[in-house]
Amino acid sequence: MDVWSLASGSSGNAYLVRSGETLLLVECGLALSKIVGYLAAHQVAPADLSGILLTHEHSDHSRSARQLSDAYGIPLFATQGTLDHRTLRDSRLARLVFPDRRFSLGDLEILPFPVPHDGREPVGYRLASQSGTVCVTTDLGFVPNKVIPHFRDTDLLVLEANHDEAMLQAGPYPAFLKRRVLGNLGHLSNVATADALVACRDRVAPRVWLAHLSQVNNSPSRAALDVSARLAAVGLGHVDVEVARRNRPSLHWSSEPRPRQLPLF
Ligand SMILES: [Zn+2]
Ligand SMILES: [Zn+2]
Repeated sequence: MDVWSLASGSSGNAYLVRSGETLLLVECGLALSKIVGYLAAHQVAPADLSGILLTHEHSDHSRSARQLSDAYGIPLFATQGTLDHRTLRDSRLARLVFPDRRFSLGDLEILPFPVPHDGREPVGYRLASQSGTVCVTTDLGFVPNKVIPHFRDTDLLVLEANHDEAMLQAGPYPAFLKRRVLGNLGHLSNVATADALVACRDRVAPRVWLAHLSQVNNSPSRAALDVSARLAAVGLGHVDVEVARRNRPSLHWSSEPRPRQLPLF
């Protein structure tokens, strides 16, 4: 199983997942030409995709989903609330998913689970194959206790670390937007993300990608440092914490062991 981060942030999100013959796009929040270009760079033709999975309808997650689905005949998986959005409504290849109801897609078993966010029916996804388990969850105002089990016992956890609370409070956002981001239906702070990982205890994923960082109210180094320091303080310093970049393909995870570096001499 392989996962690539193609883009992660409020200007567009997309992750590519491969398991055997099954190829999935989780989120499709970039312009169509950009998505197609990024797929080509990974030797993937759009028609090779088995499906597009959306967490919710906000445009940074769904921008070209309908276009890609229609143009290349790719099934579009989302909740009813998400599919009700005007940009996705009447999608020819819509496939309804139900929160907390598992379904199969090729090699993958997929579990959508509800998350608190100001979308119509937002979910996170836990994807499991013979070779690994991955969870992708961004855009949530807080992590409810019942969501924590979905993060546990995964090989890779892609989790939002949207903002540093002090940077947000002191930053240029208007008051209403600060309230929205900080609210229970907004986005996770670095501290809230670290808390959720700590709550997983010794069943925390060995590899964590911090995702959906704010360009204005966070920085990759601050997010990585805040979360890593907190994990180290509770004896979870072995967790490999990386930051998915906003505007370009960045991270890759594979269930295959990483090839050993051969000595040059
Ligand atoms: Zn978003
Ligand atoms: Zn959102």
